[in-house]
Amino acid sequence: MAAAALPLHAQQTQSKPRPEDTEIWTPVPKVVTPGAANATPPSDAIVLFDGRNLNEWVSANDGSPAKWTVANGVMTVNKPSGDSETKRRFTDYQLHIEWKIPSDITGKGQERGNSGVYLAMTDSGGYELQVMDSYENPTYVNGQAASMYKQYPPLVNAARKPGEWQTYDVVWTAPKFNTDGSVKSPAYVTAFWNGVLVQNHVPLKGFTLYIGKPFYRAHGAAPILLQAHGDPSAPISYRNIWVRSLEAGS
Ligand code: MG
Repeated sequence: MAAAALPLHAQQTQSKPRPEDTEIWTPVPKVVTPGAANATPPSDAIVLFDGRNLNEWVSANDGSPAKWTVANGVMTVNKPSGDSETKRRFTDYQLHIEWKIPSDITGKGQERGNSGVYLAMTDSGGYELQVMDSYENPTYVNGQAASMYKQYPPLVNAARKPGEWQTYDVVWTAPKFNTDGSVKSPAYVTAFWNGVLVQNHVPLKGFTLYIGKPFYRAHGAAPILLQAHGDPSAPISYRNIWVRSLEAGS
């Protein structure tokens, strides 16, 4: 027995990291039914999308005008054109964003309405608040909707059904760095999903990674990015997006 254990251990330590290594499946967040939605921008908000155009957005690939679809007051992910990000860069802020999974969504797990709000996207990485259909659609809990992907599951599951509009209200405190690039203070996220607290001032461990452990690399103000995920399910929509900058003097 002992003789067999050593080679097995050696084999495991040499194996390539896999996505599954960082997935957590239990405990599953409790389901909470949210109350009715209500949100119009406050007077000091920077409106990033009011239903009319993508003037505040560019394609993350090349900085050209964003190519997502705008119709009937909503913007819809155009998967082939890639991610869209804000022209503006932000440090600390309050964000409101609404999103809708199509009522005819197909697929399961991560391949069901996957998108994401990267609360800051830098050349070295970003920090993803997951968007996907988590209404009776199990996946690893630190990858479900309202998770800080692969870092924190939501405190509860406040999902609405596909076809219904959902809201995120987020307080983002950007990480701060020393002049040598080391972390002075980590990023913090507080988030409400359909009005229900799901992330309570959680300190991030670094950039969101699909495989492996998160790490930081020093950065300054950064755009907010919306993900065009490569799964084959129908693209999701966003509306009513606004930000209040929390930087001193702004
Ligand atoms: Mg995603």
